[in-house]
Formats: sequence, C-alpha cells, structure tokens
Amino acid sequence: MLDVLIVGGGASGFYAAINIAEANSNLKIAILERGREVLQKVRISGGGRCNVTNAELDPKELVKNYPRGEKELLGPLYTYNNQDTIQFFEARGVQLKTEEDGRVFPVSDSSQTIIDCLLNETSRLGIKVFKESPVTQIEPVLSDNHRSFWKIATINNQYKCKKVLLATGSNPKIWKLIDGLGHKIVPPVPSLFTFNIKDERITDIQGVSTNAIVDVLTKPSITPEITLKLKSKKVGKPFLSAEGPLLVTHWGLSGPVILKLSAWGAIILNDLKYNFPISINWLPEHHQESVLSLLMEIKEIEARKTVLRTKAVEIPKRLWTNLVKASGISKDEKWADVTKEKLQNLSSQLTNGRFMVEGKSTFKEEFVTAGGIDLKEINFKTFESKIHKNLFFAGEVINVDAITGGFNFQNAWTGGYIAAQGITNKG
Ligand SMILES: Cc1cc2nc3c(=O)[nH]c(=O)nc-3n(C[C@H](O)[C@H](O)[C@H](O)COP(=O)(O)OP(=O)(O)OC[C@H]3O[C@@H](n4cnc5c(N)ncnc54)[C@H](O)[C@@H]3O)c2cc1C
Repeated sequence: MLDVLIVGGGASGFYAAINIAEANSNLKIAILERGREVLQKVRISGGGRCNVTNAELDPKELVKNYPRGEKELLGPLYTYNNQDTIQFFEARGVQLKTEEDGRVFPVSDSSQTIIDCLLNETSRLGIKVFKESPVTQIEPVLSDNHRSFWKIATINNQYKCKKVLLATGSNPKIWKLIDGLGHKIVPPVPSLFTFNIKDERITDIQGVSTNAIVDVLTKPSITPEITLKLKSKKVGKPFLSAEGPLLVTHWGLSGPVILKLSAWGAIILNDLKYNFPISINWLPEHHQESVLSLLMEIKEIEARKTVLRTKAVEIPKRLWTNLVKASGISKDEKWADVTKEKLQNLSSQLTNGRFMVEGKSTFKEEFVTAGGIDLKEINFKTFESKIHKNLFFAGEVINVDAITGGFNFQNAWTGGYIAAQGITNKG
C-alpha cells in the first residue's frame, strides 16, 4: 500500500510530490503519468523558456490575474506565493530573472532547467515515477476495519493508496471519473486565445504593435440566454473592456490586451461562438471629440501637407496609412482639402474603429482551459475534496485559470505545495 499516489506527472504533481517527501521522508509516494514523458507542458511553456511565475509582490494584486479563482486563491497565495516559488527554485540552484513586464524565467531561457530541477529532486527523494500509466479508475474503498483507502487502476496495473492527489491538468477523461465520484465539473472552454479578423485596415501590417483600448461589444442579435448572461447590458455597449499592448498578426489581433479579453470573456465568447464585434481606440488617451479637435488644429497648421505623410498622432505609420485610407481620404489629399466629414471619419477610425471577430486562434506561447472541478467543493486550506476524505486536487484540474504572465504555473505550484501540507497534515 502506498501512502500517497499522485495522478499526473505535470507541474503541480511533481511540485506536490517533492513537498510531500520533504515534509515526511518516510512516506511511500508514486506519480502515475499517462504519457511517455513527464512535464511535457513545462517543456513547451513560454515558447520553450518557461515563464515560471510572476514577480508581483502583493497577493491581493496577484489574484486579480485569475478570472476563475480570484476569490478562492487569495488565502492560498498568502500561505504560499510566487516569492516562495522563486525561493524553492533558487534554493535548488536554478537562477531566475524577472523581465520588465514582471514575468519570471530561468536565466538559461530554457524550460529544461526547470524540468531538470524537478526530476533531480524526485530522484533524490526516492519518489517513484511510472510513465505510460493512464489512470482509468479511481475508487474509494471502505475496508473491514473501517479504515478507508483508494483503489486506483491504470490500463495495466492496480494500486492501493491511503491518499490520492489528482493533478491531471485539463483532461476530459479524468473529469468524467471525478464527476463519477460525485464532484461537479464546470464545463471546460478554451481561454487565452487570439482574435481572428479579416479587415483591410489590419491587412499587410502584421507585426504592428501599439497601446490600445479594446471593447468587446454585445451583438445586435444575440440569443436571450446570452443576453441574460450579459446582465442586461444594452446592445452595442461594451461588456468587456481592456487596455494594453495590441499586436496585429497574420490572422487578426493578439497581444496582452486581447489575451486578457479572451481569458475574462472565455465563457461568454464561447457562447457567442467566437463571433462578435469589437471597438478599438488606438489612442487611449483620447476620445472621438478630442481627436477631432486635434485634427482640425492640424488641418490649419499643416494645410499644405498631405494627410497620409503627416505624423498627426502617436500610432505606427503603417496603421495610420490604413486608417486614413479607411476614412475615405485619398493618397495625395492635403489637409486643406479634407472635408470635416472625412476628419470625423478619421477621428472615429482612430478612437472607435469597429471590427468583427470571426473565430479564434491558439496563442502558441501559452493556452489554458477554463473549467474543471467546482471550487465550492474544495477546501482551500488543504486542497482536499469536501466530498471525499483523503482526495486532493492541484493545478489546472480545478476551475482556476489565469491570464498569461506566469500565473497559471503559480496556481500549480501553490496548489501543489498546499495539497502537500494537507496530505502530510502540516496544513
Ligand atoms: C503551450 C503552452 C505554454 C504554456 N506556457 C506557460 C507559461 O509560460 N507560464 C505559465 O504560467 N503557464 C503556462 N502554460 C499553462 C501551464 O502549462 C499549465 O497551467 C500547467 O502546466 C498546469 O499544470 P498541471 O500540473 O495542473 O497540469 P499539466 O502540466 O497539464 O500536467 C498534467 C499531467 O497529468 C497527466 N495526465 C492527465 N490525465 C492522466 C491520467 N488519466 N492518468 C495519468 N496521467 C494523466 C498529463 O499527461 C500531464 O502530464 C502553458 C500552457 C501551454 C499549453
């Protein structure tokens, strides 16, 4: 009989295993991993560099990055946060660096450094790792002397253990098994994706990046069910808004501002089948009227120059060219000849440009799934199930996900650590 069986050889499973063994070296611990290799997501994370965590110091600020889990993770992040994670890795010889935007990476810029650290620790602590062992059955057993244990079956083996930790990430098969144990599973939907848009104004300017405000607008003809979810916001009004760096890509729009919207709007944008209008203000410090007055002033001062060749506002030149064209201003038109109507068009393009999103694409650097085990059924002091004793969860298997920036791994590290304390009764 094993003391602890961990299902899932990913970030949270390994972190938990190491922390359990460190808290009590007498325990017999094993990890079951369905794949041929463990820690595969760590390997591909952050474009191969692994954005381990984020440098934000205040747990109250940290939780604001979790569209699902904001409330529930506050306590756990006071117990074990990114600073603890940084210490964990640095104490084991991994040098870390913080980039300007707060993302923390290994100095090596290679996720292999993190993998090596976790593998070395498991082997040093004598933790068994069984690969190619997909778990197909999880069963609580009450034995004759009323001492309960867990029976776990893989396709080729049976295990008995006193305590089990499910750290299986986003995996529909395991969610089905967990559902069978009486837990509610919030239906999974993708989070962290980019917006597909076909539009002349952003064609042929891939790579252009600028600060912008993006509003997701309600659709004129949405279903009553979705209208209800939008909490009776008026049609045409934004129900999601974000400001930050916006990047034009081959397929449409990406960058932190879009990823933020995709995470916060994950459920509703899925309901809308990824078809919805957005409005972009390319000049966040302005609104339509203030830009119009600015353009009227420029018209006076630069009367003899062509609109296209004047740097009137702080946006990338190629974007300016496209927006000028979209306003009906011709290539050689001089400021003196531009009508007020065209300037109104231009101010509208600059501060309230309407685009139609038609589909989504995967953000290659990081993607996660919203959904998972209902948070109401987890005791966040120990990450133990409120339904079954000696059943613990950590990582993406629960209904927690974050925006990009190292926060998703932090959920895995924090959950893994606190579950370890719960399992060893140190919590
Ligand atoms: C391309 C990509 C890049 C990312 N980059 C970053 C980043 O830089 N920073 C960041 O914070 N987050 C990043 N993320 C998100 C992050 O990887 C996840 O949030 C994190 O890995 C979750 O850890 P986990 O332990 O819960 O799940 P996982 O890491 O997914 O591990 C779960 C493990 O369980 C195994 N498993 C599943 N079912 C079974 C079963 N039935 N039996 C046995 N084993 C099973 C899986 O094979 C897997 O190995 C990225 C995600 C992707 C997809």
